[in-house]
Amino acid sequence: MNLFLTEEQRMIQEMARDFAEKELKPRAAEVDSTSRLSLSVLKAMADLGMMGMNIPSEYGGSQSGVVSYSLAMTEIGKGCPSTAVTMAVTNMVAEVIAAFGSEEQRTQHIPRICRGEYPSGAFALTESTAGSDPSAMKSEAKRWGDEYVLKGSKTFITSGDFAGIFVVWAKTDKDTGARGISAFLVEQGTTGFKIGRNEEKMGQRGSPTNEIAIEDCRLPRNALLGQEGEGFKIAMMALDGGRIGIGSLAVGIGLAAIDYATHYAKSRIQFGKPISSFQAIQGMIADSFTELEASRLLVLRAAYLKEKGVRFTREASMGKLMASETANRVCYRALQILGGYGYIREYPLERYARDCRVTTLYEGTSEIQRLVIAREMLGVDNV
Ligand SMILES: Cc1cc2nc3c(=O)[nH]c(=O)nc-3n(C[C@H](O)[C@H](O)[C@H](O)COP(=O)(O)OP(=O)(O)OC[C@H]3O[C@@H](n4cnc5c(N)ncnc54)[C@H](O)[C@@H]3O)c2cc1C
Repeated sequence: MNLFLTEEQRMIQEMARDFAEKELKPRAAEVDSTSRLSLSVLKAMADLGMMGMNIPSEYGGSQSGVVSYSLAMTEIGKGCPSTAVTMAVTNMVAEVIAAFGSEEQRTQHIPRICRGEYPSGAFALTESTAGSDPSAMKSEAKRWGDEYVLKGSKTFITSGDFAGIFVVWAKTDKDTGARGISAFLVEQGTTGFKIGRNEEKMGQRGSPTNEIAIEDCRLPRNALLGQEGEGFKIAMMALDGGRIGIGSLAVGIGLAAIDYATHYAKSRIQFGKPISSFQAIQGMIADSFTELEASRLLVLRAAYLKEKGVRFTREASMGKLMASETANRVCYRALQILGGYGYIREYPLERYARDCRVTTLYEGTSEIQRLVIAREMLGVDNV
């Protein structure tokens, strides 16, 4: 793995950093307090090429590669985690359609994602009784003449409120477990596909998390993504890539928190000295930057392998596990450096800690990442 960034990768990183500093960071507290992110900001990100970063230019993507995507995601995550997770899911959906879609599906949907005509994409896998174990899903799709008829429900769907296109999983054969799952493309506003409650959340509050009720939702046969029964494989492959995005995002939140705390430590005077002169504070700063750098390298390794077309399942899970657990630890340390002020809303530390919490939960909990890693290391199916 080349540890030096190319000129293009550095430029993309700087572009995303600049955008995050100017457009995201100043509004992040408001996004949190109003639980609303700006759709015009998402459009601006699409115009900068950030909604189809690993998509060929023929479909409107910026074709910047997975390493650049990871670098950009970390910068956007520093600025506004709610916006970053929207970018993560949108890129994931564009990539799923690129990898498994028919030519008609690709040309119909991917350019609209990349150009920001769809504010975002959405990935509708989880159900109330099927979280870590999607094979337990109850949603069904029955073939009826030239159509599929979907019924069921989905839970915790990021961007449900405003996504233009959804990848939705349902069983076309309910007796064969994971092998009976298929994936479908559903456009926002399709009859019978009803976006429900936006959950009240601890963090990433600007990113809507919706329930979806699917009642007699009729889709044309060509809404099927890939082949019947291929849905579970599609979901797992998408999640492998998605974990690079979430790991990168987590690193961004951790860096934002410890950067802030480091500046604070230099100016906060106690016992007649800046608190940065105390070894205990220095230790927290040193450990935090070191652990975040290690996490970033692990995530970038997964990104590099994906870019080179090498299998990266284990590395993506390692990166996501390490980055999300580390970033949570770092956010708590950074909050500690601010003392009581870390707990006060006027300062961003309590928000960083809340925004970071979900990174060990979505796109596979830390326990599920460990299962994936152990399965890869042991060479057995231990789930
Ligand atoms: C804010 C947010 C956004 C989300 N966005 C999306 C989205 O866009 N699309 C989508 O499809 N889903 C989304 N999710 C769902 C998310 O992926 C699930 O919440 C997650 O996979 C865990 O499922 P669960 O919540 O049902 O927990 P459960 O699966 O019920 O797990 C509960 C606990 O048991 C542990 N556990 C479960 N199985 C095992 C096992 N085999 N071994 C050891 N421990 C185990 C888990 O690690 C966890 O600690 C989102 C969730 C949140 C909170």
